[in-house]
Amino acid sequence: MAKEKKGVRLDHISKIYQDPKTKKDFYAVHDVSLDIAPGEFVTLLGPSGCGKTTILRMIAGFESPNEGEIYLGGEPINELTPNKRDTAMVFQSYALLPHYNIFDNVAYGLKLRKVPKDEIAKKVTNILHLVGLDGMEDRMTNQLSGGQQQRVALARALVLEPGVLLFDEPLSNLDAKLRVDMRNEIRRIQQEAGITAVYVTHDQSEAMALSDNIIIMKKGVVQQMGDPLTVYYEPANEFVADFIGESNFLRGTLAEKDGHHGQATIEGNPVDVSNVGHLNVGDDVTLVLRPEAAALADEGVLPCTVTLSRFMGNYHNYQVKVGDTLVKITDFNPKNHKIYDVGDEAFVAFGPEDVHVL
Ligand code: ATP
Repeated sequence: MAKEKKGVRLDHISKIYQDPKTKKDFYAVHDVSLDIAPGEFVTLLGPSGCGKTTILRMIAGFESPNEGEIYLGGEPINELTPNKRDTAMVFQSYALLPHYNIFDNVAYGLKLRKVPKDEIAKKVTNILHLVGLDGMEDRMTNQLSGGQQQRVALARALVLEPGVLLFDEPLSNLDAKLRVDMRNEIRRIQQEAGITAVYVTHDQSEAMALSDNIIIMKKGVVQQMGDPLTVYYEPANEFVADFIGESNFLRGTLAEKDGHHGQATIEGNPVDVSNVGHLNVGDDVTLVLRPEAAALADEGVLPCTVTLSRFMGNYHNYQVKVGDTLVKITDFNPKNHKIYDVGDEAFVAFGPEDVHVL
């Protein structure tokens, strides 16, 4: 569908704004460098105010970076106005023309580009088919459901066959069920259209479901870029481990080391660990342990006391205390396991491959 899918490269990009209260300048985006390959679906993920939208708006040309260069398909684009860039944006608000029908909304950008009438008709029909709005050309956009409006917004961007499609939290105005349906649709359409996509969200499950790669940001700075498996199982730091899924942080010191393997001391207990080649004996370590990677058992690594035990239907939720450390454990197969009650003494069980060492 896309004329030519294009890669995006940000080379040491910074954006400085003035805080309206303190009147002080601050970095909304600080020294961000990243490469997005042609045809890739990349999500910018992070809490409110971390600079995701600012990055998207700089790629689109609605904002200019104070430092650095942006490349689209290998060409520098800092000096190009938005309409000269080979990008199209799908907005959170949809930004549809309310008194126009679907056809005219989708055809609008093509008319501005003086595309011949019969070609416009053909392109609009094809795109409406792709987004699942066949035969709805004459419906007025103010008579559509939220999900249908979102599809029109998507069609209107796609019909321009941009090198890169930009999404600014496009599903925020939809209810939870529709959001899940539409995100699957967006992924299908992006793959069928074979287009490069950059997608902004603060919803980690949306990012996991949609992306080839996720860029996690905090206060204008990229914390990690990686595929969903990598950012989940090998988070670069505690912020990423906490932002994507749930994590327990077991703090201690590295007591022994032999190559990549070693032993950490956590609350006075020896814990075998791997991937510690970069650390030295005596270093502080934090073990990232996902609640579902740990089990509660009669034997294990860390002795504990159960402080919360709750059956949730498809899983069992525990909180236990290991010394002063609170550990969350999720048992997704409770029917086949012993159930522990509050006050029981037990062990947190896990192997070296179940923890990620920071
Ligand atoms: P959200 O999820 O809430 O949209 P975001 O991660 O997209 O957040 P940005 O909109 O990129 O964040 O904003 C980054 C920072 O820059 C925030 O602190 C925001 O208040 C600030 N900011 C954004 N636009 C401007 C502006 N035009 N002038 C001054 N500050 C701005």
